[in-house]
Amino acid sequence: MDQLGSGKGTITKLVGEKLGLVNIDTGATFRCVTLAMLRQNIKVEEIDKIKELLETIKIEILHKNSQQIILLNGEDVSLQIREKPVNDMVSSVSTLKIVRDKMLQLQRKIAEGKNVIMEGRDIGTNVFPNANVKIYLDATAEERAKRRMLQNQEKGISSTYEEALKNVKTRDKIDSEREIAPLKKAEDAIYIDSTNMTIQEVVEEICNIVQKD
Ligand code: C5P
Repeated sequence: MDQLGSGKGTITKLVGEKLGLVNIDTGATFRCVTLAMLRQNIKVEEIDKIKELLETIKIEILHKNSQQIILLNGEDVSLQIREKPVNDMVSSVSTLKIVRDKMLQLQRKIAEGKNVIMEGRDIGTNVFPNANVKIYLDATAEERAKRRMLQNQEKGISSTYEEALKNVKTRDKIDSEREIAPLKKAEDAIYIDSTNMTIQEVVEEICNIVQKD
């Protein structure tokens, strides 16, 4: 599933539960690399250090009561990867070829042999170009910032609306303009604008699409 906007985690989780699919959040893998870089004070320009880091890093996605738990070298970092330092840096890290190559391998491996619902900005175009069903889920930046803020509040992560909006817009720009696997709708993806839809409506529409396939 290609998708813009926060709230996509909620949607994929619910669709996955309804249709018995394993839910995989690919953004979390890029966020883990970014967190590891921040912890080791590695900058985006330090390609050799990033290469070394990628050789040793272990990223896992576990599923517990249909909730995803993200492990970085065995440590649960599900919350840390959603915080501001990672939000601010992740799109720059995601432009790097060595990072994208490694994450592509990892994402394909995680999905191997499973029926998955996978969300991320280049899934339909790049990770699984032959996916059975592709959805491009969109929403205005303003709506997405509002959703992100509410999600953050639930998780106890502090952020303002202005901060969330700025981050959503900046990441969209970097993600769409990057050279490798930019954020764009796959030609054969079905477009859904979720701005004025409830979560239930989006879930139902996607389930209908998948079941018709
Ligand atoms: O989906 P999420 O907002 O958690 O993604 C965080 C960042 O990871 C995105 O802004 C993008 O830079 C990168 N990403 C990517 N390709 C994916 C998923 C995420 O480049 N498939």
